[in-house]
Amino acid sequence: MENKINERFIDPTIPDEMTASIRPKRMADFVGQDAMKQNLSVFISAARNRSEAMDHVLLYGPPGLGKTTLAHIVANELGTNFRSTAAPMLTKQGDLAAILTSLEPMDVLFIDEIHRLPTAIEEVLYSAMEDFKLDIMLGEGPSAKSVRIDLPQFTLVGATTRTGLLSNPLRDRFGIDLRLSFYDTSDLAKIITRSANILGISIDPSAADILSISARGTPRIANRLLKRARDFASATGVKTITSDTIKTTLFQLKIDDRGLDDIDRDYMSAIVKHYAGGPVGIENLSAILSEPSDTIEDVIEPYLMQQGFIQRTPRGRIITDAGYKHLGLEK
Ligand code: ADP
Repeated sequence: MENKINERFIDPTIPDEMTASIRPKRMADFVGQDAMKQNLSVFISAARNRSEAMDHVLLYGPPGLGKTTLAHIVANELGTNFRSTAAPMLTKQGDLAAILTSLEPMDVLFIDEIHRLPTAIEEVLYSAMEDFKLDIMLGEGPSAKSVRIDLPQFTLVGATTRTGLLSNPLRDRFGIDLRLSFYDTSDLAKIITRSANILGISIDPSAADILSISARGTPRIANRLLKRARDFASATGVKTITSDTIKTTLFQLKIDDRGLDDIDRDYMSAIVKHYAGGPVGIENLSAILSEPSDTIEDVIEPYLMQQGFIQRTPRGRIITDAGYKHLGLEK
């Protein structure tokens, strides 16, 4: 079955097109998340001063908040190579072994969606992270033998949308644990203005403000909406993106003034209509909406919770008073 979410404009998991130019490259260009940035900068300069690989870093947060960007920045600030892969691409121990053995001293290795590593591959990472040794089995059956290979010192940066799914032994091997949270509107407005400058788009400050409110606290969505607004502006022969351009763009994309789209509204309406406002379990919602439960948990719920429209309770999801109000419904 084709999921509706596949066509979702504001899906923060869809990779961006042509974003290399707007992706911040240095810490100074990375907007917001100040406390996290300060901590990370201290670790980076300490590692540089000691000429050692920096401790392994676990980055946690919803999609589109800057985990990959930060991993690049860590490598840039350390002055090392950046190597990148994603857990779903590592299906055999040998896949990871090939990457680890090709690292150069101090390199940054980024593994996206690290909670999805198969256990057998995760186990290879344990000694690699702890002792910079690679323990692998060669061959199979009675003739199989274990070999140990020295690896260069490296920094693993793991990214995950769900720390809850990470095994304890893996989580314990990260010395630095950083959490990214949704951006506030003033930081998003800065990101929008910065991206507009780089892309050569002219945008009114009031337009950047309106856009920042509908960007779901997510830089990736802010940038995507900005590009779409540019398309609307150029289609109508307008040179500067104004508040009106943004309002038209959001209207056309059926995104409301808090950044919610039809899928969010369907999700909230389902709880109201079928479960009298909840509580309802994730599997029931998944069946009603025909969306996988992990998509609902990763992509829909974090923002709705952050906005205070829903709550997760031990008995299931419930709609809050603010959620009812946003839907225009009486409790
Ligand atoms: P994640 O890996 O968490 O899914 P990314 O690092 O790919 O997210 O970020 C998505 C996009 O948002 C990037 O292309 C980048 O341009 C932009 N971005 C993310 N965080 C920031 C930030 N703090 N400042 C400016 N732009 C950002």
